[in-house]
Amino acid sequence: MKTLIVSVVTPDGPVMEDTFEMVSCKAENGELGVLPGHIPLVAPLTISVVRLKASDRTDRIAVSGGFLEVRPDKVTILAQSAELPSDIDVERARKAKERAERRLQTKQDDIDFRRAELSLRRALNRLDIAQNR
Ligand code: ATP
Repeated sequence: MKTLIVSVVTPDGPVMEDTFEMVSCKAENGELGVLPGHIPLVAPLTISVVRLKASDRTDRIAVSGGFLEVRPDKVTILAQSAELPSDIDVERARKAKERAERRLQTKQDDIDFRRAELSLRRALNRLDIAQNR
């Protein structure tokens, strides 16, 4: 077994499905590299970039939380949102970043602070993947 089918799904529908040699991602308890034949597992994902390595290229997808499901021949990424670099609206992400930063500067309750923090992390993750495309 040399390859894996990788399927990326969000609440809005499928984002992509293709064959890759390796999946690298950031699970909540650390970096995870998945090769074909990996033991089955389910892991929560952080707001981060998933790297999908094929023989001729590496695709990157910005995900904002969700789950990784691994089976020996298939990886399913069930994400709250998932964007390829070409899908990112940079202006929208910049505005989201500024909005979140403004909210973090004003005194407010813990829930709003946490929400702003997560929003900032999503925006930075999107800008990161878009700027390195
Ligand atoms: P915003 O405040 O700009 O809506 P957000 O982080 O709150 O950002 P999400 O709730 O994570 O947005 O995503 C809602 C939907 O919008 C998802 O389908 C996501 O893929 C898409 N999306 C969010 N930001 C961007 C962006 N900068 N470029 C492209 N798609 C985006």
